[in-house]
Amino acid sequence: MPTVTIDDKPIEARLGETILQVARRAGVWIPTLCHHEALSSSASCRICVVEIDRGGWWQVVTSCNYPVRGDLTVRVNSERAIRGRRGVMQLLLARCPESKELRKLARRMGVDGTPYPKVTEAQRNCILCGLCVRVCEERIGASAISNAGRGVERAIAAPFRMPSDDCIGCGACAAICPVGTITVRTHEKEVEISPFKSRASLVRCSECGCPVGSELVKQALADRGGPKLVEILARRPICPQCKREKLAKELTVAVPSGNRGTSVRTT
Ligand code: SF4
Repeated sequence: MPTVTIDDKPIEARLGETILQVARRAGVWIPTLCHHEALSSSASCRICVVEIDRGGWWQVVTSCNYPVRGDLTVRVNSERAIRGRRGVMQLLLARCPESKELRKLARRMGVDGTPYPKVTEAQRNCILCGLCVRVCEERIGASAISNAGRGVERAIAAPFRMPSDDCIGCGACAAICPVGTITVRTHEKEVEISPFKSRASLVRCSECGCPVGSELVKQALADRGGPKLVEILARRPICPQCKREKLAKELTVAVPSGNRGTSVRTT
């Protein structure tokens, strides 16, 4: 088993593990933005940079995708590594100055602002980490969005920057966005994924009328889930809160006179 020495602390590692995985297992904090355990690594944000010993010189690498191939000496909290990560954060803050999530991470890293000019409105609020693109492709299987444009014009968008018919309105991209840029908006009859402007029919709870998801997500689940799930999804839609209340009513029996106001739950 190879040994990864992080800031003078030796840790046993498995071949193929990334430096980030080893560090996390050992309780060493390295900031990440474009990384998610359930998705492939893209190392696009560069916020996780560390130094590794190359035998006489130290190389700066991204820890989220650098694999352990043998014994390795890593510096996470060296002056150069910290300066590198803070520099990246300052650049990202210029793109996303209003993001609460980004500012919170910046504070934790000891960065309280950016010396760089703010980017234009069109480029604003997205750090181009690509997590939304990867979750849509790798987990949802929709591939509704992708990188569009080049250089300073680069953005995450649906084809031709038009609302995409491939979007099922699942909201996975919004849930995974680390800077809170993608949002799910519910309208009377539709769910809208902003800023991609794609819309899907909304399913509402049959009891209280609150939104429970999109019709296309229901169909996608039915397609993947087999007959049992098809049968469940064919029932009247119900939100988790109403479901809990309904279940509580079914399981609760009132205790007769003398003990009014109390109840017991059956098993
Ligand atoms: S809401 Fe649309 S764009 Fe976002 S992950 Fe789901 S299918 Fe992809």
